[in-house]
Amino acid sequence: MDNRQIVLDHRPSGPVDESTTKVVTTSRPECGDGEALIKVAMLSIDPTIRTWMDDAPGYLPPIELGAVVRGGGAGVVVESCNERYAVGDVVFGMTGWQEWVLATPEERFTVIPTGLGLDLATVMNVLGVTGITAYFGLVDVGRVQPGDVVVVSGAGGATGSVVGQIARARGAGKVVGIAGGAEKCAEVVERYGFDECLDYREEHLRRRLREACPAGVDLYFDNVGGEILDTVLTLLALNARVVLCGAISQYNATGPRRGIENTSALITRRARMEGFLVLDYASRFAEAQLELARLVLSGQLQHQEHVLTGLERAPEALNLLFSGGNHGKMLVAVDESVLLG
Ligand code: NAP
Repeated sequence: MDNRQIVLDHRPSGPVDESTTKVVTTSRPECGDGEALIKVAMLSIDPTIRTWMDDAPGYLPPIELGAVVRGGGAGVVVESCNERYAVGDVVFGMTGWQEWVLATPEERFTVIPTGLGLDLATVMNVLGVTGITAYFGLVDVGRVQPGDVVVVSGAGGATGSVVGQIARARGAGKVVGIAGGAEKCAEVVERYGFDECLDYREEHLRRRLREACPAGVDLYFDNVGGEILDTVLTLLALNARVVLCGAISQYNATGPRRGIENTSALITRRARMEGFLVLDYASRFAEAQLELARLVLSGQLQHQEHVLTGLERAPEALNLLFSGGNHGKMLVAVDESVLLG
């Protein structure tokens, strides 16, 4: 049986294009001792995949030319030679952009709980990497407090939309989003219940933010970096916390990354700015998933998944994250029929 895969063919300069990746067909891998064979159902499309395509140092090595594009995904165990996995288990791990993958002792997968009555796309969104990132970034790194004025960039996206709703559930005084375009901003307020959402594509963002947060920003959750981060730094309240989660505005940059100028505000406002990687919280994922599951099952957490169908659409899905064309968590359905078997 065949295994269709998407491999990295050329390193992109700017957004990925038709020369970046190519589809190849290899043989389906054989399940050896200690391994399990997984049929991939759905891919999680994450902005960080774009950073792994660069030949640059990062928290994971660059994807090698000719290698399957690295990425998270979920699938079903169809053959198992490892007692960790039973045939029929729905699992999540680094599937890569391909139809079949092996779980090995080195490349482990997590069995997804299926008893909650949530579909796979919801689980991959709210209980997956982005939901967990939102939780630990806000609660652990940002130490959100009741009454806080919380500002979230990338507010209409998978991570940002969950951040704002957890902040609300934990008693934030005001939750303000920043997103691109009137339609996205309306979605952030109407669907996700933020108090306000400011369009960063319009002029005078700083002035509009100051009007929205006259007493300053207690907690800024930054998903985008660059100019927006620099602008929010000028509006921090005393003892503010700035959570550096992502810098998507810089991932496609072809020249030097934009520097941040307003760091002296951290001194005068006695503020703390801290980056984090959700990977470092692996041993505590269940804690986040418990709270996220409670919020989603009680209807306090609204979510949205943007699913493209077909493995070959993964590069297109990745680009949608950078144009803002995604509405909610970006996923690619590779073969959902395996979930029904
Ligand atoms: P997402 O927010 O669902 O999608 C990305 C969004 O970024 C787009 O919808 C777009 O929204 C916005 N965007 C794109 N280019 C932009 C620009 N130049 N300026 C401002 N906004 C821009 O994606 P996600 O998966 O939830 O990821 C959000 C951020 O979290 C990313 O930076 C990602 O790298 C980071 N992240 C970090 C960790 C961690 O462990 N630290 C884990 C997961 C994700 P608009 O329509 O509003 O422009």
